[in-house]
Amino acid sequence: MIESGRRLTGASRWQADVVIVGTGAGGGMAASELARRGAKVIALEEGPALSARDMTQREDEMMPLLYQERGGRSTADLAIRVIGGRGVGGSTVHNINLCKRLPPEILELWGREHAVSGLSEAELRPVFESVERDLSVSEIEPERRNNNNRVLERGVAALGWKGGPLKHNRQGCQGSGFCEIGCPYDAKQNAAKILLPDAMDHGARVVSDVRVTRILHDGRRARGVVGVALGVDGRQSVEVRVDANVVVLAGSAIGSPALGVASSLPDPHARLGRGLRMHPGVAVAGLFDERIEGWRGIPQSYECTELLELSPGSDKRVWITTAFAHPIGAAIMLPGFGERHRAWMLRYPNIAVLTAMLHDDSEGRVSLGRDGRPRIDYVLSQSDSEQLARGVRACARLLFAAGATKVLVPSVPPIELSRPDEVESIPGSVARPHGMLMAAVHPMGTMCLGDDPRRAVVKSTGEHHQVAGLFVLDGSLFPTSIGGPPQIGIYTLARYLSRHVG
Ligand SMILES: Cc1cc2nc3c(=O)[nH]c(=O)nc-3n(C[C@H](O)[C@H](O)[C@H](O)COP(=O)(O)OP(=O)(O)OC[C@H]3O[C@@H](n4cnc5c(N)ncnc54)[C@H](O)[C@@H]3O)c2cc1C
Repeated sequence: MIESGRRLTGASRWQADVVIVGTGAGGGMAASELARRGAKVIALEEGPALSARDMTQREDEMMPLLYQERGGRSTADLAIRVIGGRGVGGSTVHNINLCKRLPPEILELWGREHAVSGLSEAELRPVFESVERDLSVSEIEPERRNNNNRVLERGVAALGWKGGPLKHNRQGCQGSGFCEIGCPYDAKQNAAKILLPDAMDHGARVVSDVRVTRILHDGRRARGVVGVALGVDGRQSVEVRVDANVVVLAGSAIGSPALGVASSLPDPHARLGRGLRMHPGVAVAGLFDERIEGWRGIPQSYECTELLELSPGSDKRVWITTAFAHPIGAAIMLPGFGERHRAWMLRYPNIAVLTAMLHDDSEGRVSLGRDGRPRIDYVLSQSDSEQLARGVRACARLLFAAGATKVLVPSVPPIELSRPDEVESIPGSVARPHGMLMAAVHPMGTMCLGDDPRRAVVKSTGEHHQVAGLFVLDGSLFPTSIGGPPQIGIYTLARYLSRHVG
């Protein structure tokens, strides 16, 4: 059973072999692997433990419950919304479940240019296979594709572009379409459903509502963590301390480096929190004569890879898939005020939405804000914003090719197109910072791995270069952007590198 910090009435001090910070993709997998090996594991999670019954399918209720900073986290300049999970299961509770392995080109690049050893495609293949088996990863059958994804498939076919179906980790899916605000049918084969129960079956303690505030270390060796229990209203109550010779950081590529900075981890080469990538994305809407009802059915079951080549220096760095928004999200995206906005909202059932996500080169940084919250500095480079503009044009082309009568680019000011030949008029500057609504859901790379301590925070084993016994097993590990959904890569690295932990 998951324990809650809300129930603690006095300061607590516990002992463990391993204490894990965070229970998302990385933390959930680490807890399961290490508990199975017989280690005494305590996993601490700052957010609550929610069950399928808590998922009301309402954006206004679920966003504050499931997301960091109640869904309002963004870059310091407010140009990009950075969306990440908070709660037992982390971002795997509300992600869309799509699954892709770390691409071989990316693993090769990490080995060649980032001194990452022991993570070749051949070494990881059996681990990918075992992760996919345990999380029931399979391709979404064509008959389960919803109308929004059929639009993308139609556009890809009409233009003769590259594209294909996607795999997901879901079982017993009812196609309700509310994946991003939590599954009321418990169909997600994720950290919360599969890995943490397995860890607890093997003796691990999972404690929600405890925010870790400091890693205990003497600059050379990890000793445990200190945190605070959080009440229902989020207020701090009592102190929680766990003494352990091994600490696993799995608080995400935002939470882990912020905690590292708060804990004054040694950082002789100023790498902690650097190298943030996050696949910033923009959405483009198309209006159709037929009803799309994009809120129904499985989201993101099809992709377009026409503009995605992962070789270094490539000028094709855009991944396109679908991104239907529920009513509040759509209302934010659709242009105008009063009557004009109402007219768009009335056409909501006839709208399809595509997203272009960037395989980004721009490097951001996570540090600690004065208010104690993570501060995210990230500004798109010129070439990255031009890439995203290409993505916007490609989405517009796909929508027209699929039969859209109008295409809407939610830029400042909004662009409405009525004919395919107008697509080229979308300016290269459309995706400049503050030029479009932008969101990022894949933070990566702020405590990256590699054997060279001048460039990487942790070794290729996941252990900190300076602090023995401190491991990182989450999205922070990636030395570069990966150009696709990261969860399978994170689950896999956490499983594979767990064998070094101890
Ligand atoms: C809306 C959305 C859709 C997505 N869709 C997909 C998808 O379809 N496919 C895919 O591959 N990826 C998807 N992702 C991304 C994917 O879910 C994440 O990349 C992945 O879960 C990250 O794993 P992680 O272990 O790094 O962190 P997370 O899973 O985010 O877990 C980190 C956990 O640590 C906790 N934590 C942080 N700091 C502390 C602290 N100090 N003390 C205690 N606890 C702490 C957090 O509360 C959180 O629960 C999506 C993400 C979002 C937001």
